[in-house]
Amino acid sequence: MTNVFSHLSFDGTMVIDPAETAFAATDFGGIVGYPPLAVLRARSTADIEAVLPVAAANNISVVPRGCGHTSLGQAQALDGLVIDLTALDEVHDLTEDQVTVDAGATWNSLLAHTLQYGLTPRVLTDYLGTSIGGTLSAGGIGGTSHRYGVQTDNALALDVVTADGATRHCSPTELPDLFHAVLGGFGQCGVIVRATLPLIPAPARVRRVKVYYPTIDELVANQRSLLAEGRFDFLQGEILPTPGGWVYMLDVASYYTPPHEPYDDVLASGIGFVASRDKIEDLTYWEFATRLDETVTYLEGTGEWETPHPWPNLLLPDAELDAFTSGIMADLEHADMGASGLILLYPMTTAAFGTPLFRLPEGSTIYLVAGLRFATDAAKAQDMVTKNRRWYDAAVSVGGTSYPTGAIPFTSADWTRHLGTAQAVLAEAKARYDPSNLFPRRFA
Ligand SMILES: Cc1cc2nc3c(=O)[nH]c(=O)nc-3n(C[C@H](O)[C@H](O)[C@H](O)COP(=O)(O)OP(=O)(O)OC[C@H]3O[C@@H](n4cnc5c(N)ncnc54)[C@H](O)[C@@H]3O)c2cc1C
Repeated sequence: MTNVFSHLSFDGTMVIDPAETAFAATDFGGIVGYPPLAVLRARSTADIEAVLPVAAANNISVVPRGCGHTSLGQAQALDGLVIDLTALDEVHDLTEDQVTVDAGATWNSLLAHTLQYGLTPRVLTDYLGTSIGGTLSAGGIGGTSHRYGVQTDNALALDVVTADGATRHCSPTELPDLFHAVLGGFGQCGVIVRATLPLIPAPARVRRVKVYYPTIDELVANQRSLLAEGRFDFLQGEILPTPGGWVYMLDVASYYTPPHEPYDDVLASGIGFVASRDKIEDLTYWEFATRLDETVTYLEGTGEWETPHPWPNLLLPDAELDAFTSGIMADLEHADMGASGLILLYPMTTAAFGTPLFRLPEGSTIYLVAGLRFATDAAKAQDMVTKNRRWYDAAVSVGGTSYPTGAIPFTSADWTRHLGTAQAVLAEAKARYDPSNLFPRRFA
């Protein structure tokens, strides 16, 4: 193959050898694999500014990539150029209430940095091994989203390299059309190279309460009342397969800094807490934020971190949640979860949500329903993807939406329906900043 980029010099490296580009044809989902033509491991904004016009002139489509933790090829580019941002990972200006950070930095490294100054981003995803640019291109849901919205609702400004190779600074007041088309835009309007994010004082410690109910009704009723009451800073829940059947876990946490310690009996009152069955633990904020690291180490040990992960992520209107979960639970065997699977299930109020491309169901309360399932082989993974699609169709039929980081195949018509009234936000920005469609929409 002629390397059309060979006349360019980069601070990073351009690779075209299939052995070196192979990683970019994989992702956490492990279901699809689209070999790219080339991968630029960018080390500077200048690398990206230089490569985009050349890719455009040669009709080579471009896909930005963070940590590749999407599940169905969202960060892959068949015969295109993948721009790997993970080496663009510096933390820049930090003040008492905001930080500017390169898009390839992980949330883990950003938090490690801000905590040195006693500060934290408002919303953290459960797993911090994702990139700033990757979650800002998707949404970024976490246990504090009921209070602060998703991570895209908490971006103050972005630097974006657009198809013409220019770096544009955008925010809600400066080039707002670009800003709103990039947040939650899955890399279809340019490459985010830097983000400015708000910070708040970090709590020193976290009191985490886990309650294991025998029925989903108890879980959901308690989640709804806790959401309304606002007792906890962090609010989540999980459906867990156990040898004795499904168990429904409330997972909530109160943040504090000594000496302002919460009272356990107040935290646990009125939520069906049973001391002999349930748990209260006290952790540092860092231990809590990185709580999945231990699970990841375990899954790496069992090999499940490398198996296919056909994870669907759905958002449901609260009013439809009960009927919807009855439907999917009837459609689900323990064996469908894999050894370590679970279903995330938790509510959020939508008052703080406002990212146009992060598509929400109607209503002031919504539920995240995410099937974190592990497939033992490719055939099983395909069966699960088919089932995901069935769940998605059922969700849509009652006003639900997808959080499209997972493994639900989307057609062009699905994207149009998904974007709904926000279609114009993307279309107008594409017309202005990417008229030749250098950053195409990806389907699987
Ligand atoms: C174990 C695990 C736990 C997770 N937990 C959560 C969770 O709690 N909450 C949540 O919201 N999500 C969660 N996710 C999903 C994850 O946050 C998203 O898939 C996220 O997009 C992954 O970030 P990434 O850096 O891996 O992005 P990638 O997979 O590399 O990219 C995602 C998308 O963003 C685009 N993109 C990436 N970087 C840029 C950039 N700099 N500029 C423009 N476009 C870009 C890509 O082209 C692609 O379309 C989890 C995923 C895993 C595997």
